[in-house]
Amino acid sequence: MRVRNSILQLVPYQPGKPIEETQRELGLNHVVKLASNENPFGISPAVIARVKDCLSGLNRYPDASCHRLKVAMAQRLNVSPAELTFGNGSNELIDLLIRVLCLPAPDEISEHVPVGDHLRTDLVATFSGAFVAYEICAQAAGVGVLKAPLDKNYKFDLNQMLHFLDSEVGTRVRLLFLPNPNNPTGTYISQSELQGLLSRLQSHPNLVVVLDEAYLEYVRAEDFIDGLRCRQIFKRVAVLRTFSKVYGLAGLRLGALVADPELIGWIDRVRNLFNVSQIAQEAAVAALEDREFVAETLRKTWAGLDWITSQLDSLGLEWIPSQGNFVLFDTGREALSVYQALLKKGVILRPVASYGFPRHLRFTVGTPEENSFAILALRTVLGKA
Ligand SMILES: *Cc1c(COP(=O)(O)O)cnc(C)c1O
Repeated sequence: MRVRNSILQLVPYQPGKPIEETQRELGLNHVVKLASNENPFGISPAVIARVKDCLSGLNRYPDASCHRLKVAMAQRLNVSPAELTFGNGSNELIDLLIRVLCLPAPDEISEHVPVGDHLRTDLVATFSGAFVAYEICAQAAGVGVLKAPLDKNYKFDLNQMLHFLDSEVGTRVRLLFLPNPNNPTGTYISQSELQGLLSRLQSHPNLVVVLDEAYLEYVRAEDFIDGLRCRQIFKRVAVLRTFSKVYGLAGLRLGALVADPELIGWIDRVRNLFNVSQIAQEAAVAALEDREFVAETLRKTWAGLDWITSQLDSLGLEWIPSQGNFVLFDTGREALSVYQALLKKGVILRPVASYGFPRHLRFTVGTPEENSFAILALRTVLGKA
């Protein structure tokens, strides 16, 4: 079959191992999955009630403009409805941003050559050790990726990125993806760092900076600034938010994009008109209203994160301070063996070798019972029970 070269070279995204698959393959009854940064505390009861209410309307197509959700979200974020659009998860919005803004490399030239590298086509920029969806979506679209390194504290090396963007190749970069906080490291860009970066990028008129704020609600650092506040100093900031994390709706697929009305207009032109189901629209409105569920999730997640990191300390394992609902820790050895030994004990953590961290595992905060179960298994596997 003839397939585009950029697709032939694509290394697919590896999601966290599903619970049922682990049960089936290893003959286990009790399996705890702490591998996909999901909300372990379930769904707001108000959301469940609203979803039940809208089931009888599923014979109709959804509202293609997401009107009620857009009004509710615009009010919450203090932006205008024209500055908002939605996607089937923020992942779809990442895909759309790349397709709308970047010119792909012609396929016939790219065989056995990194996609787009040798041509004067558009590029996407991000960091090695950043969320991989940007790179995968770019590659699927035939668009090359420029990656700056992390510094020694696992933070984005912003000076290195500026150096790239100011060089010859940097003039081709149309989109800069900044997950803030980042997954899987849990690190963040501080207010002064971000404002400094954006003011330096004023001189790059073709560049859109995407702040992916999937974990925004979990942030406890005091010197954090969100992307919406940055839009006042830098107009070409686009902000991604998701309902997959603190709102507990990963299975429903809903993400939001805030950007200037012109860019929103282009995205709306390209997206599948019915990309967000009616259930997702209704559920999200109810989820926004239930502030208590979010507050409770945050309290429990922070307590869980602090407990897990204290346990990692007692095991003598190094971990990276995290602003998310997860923590990346150094197993002190090749991590795949620890991952596999944990699986046999019914604990699914996330290997991150593909992000360039062969010795680390990512541990998502679960319920207190799940956290204890996982830490006990880790103690046993490391011979420290
Ligand atoms: C989990 C996550 C998302 C959410 O993706 P959805 O498609 O909305 O589920 C986005 N960005 C980052 C960095 C994430 O870790």
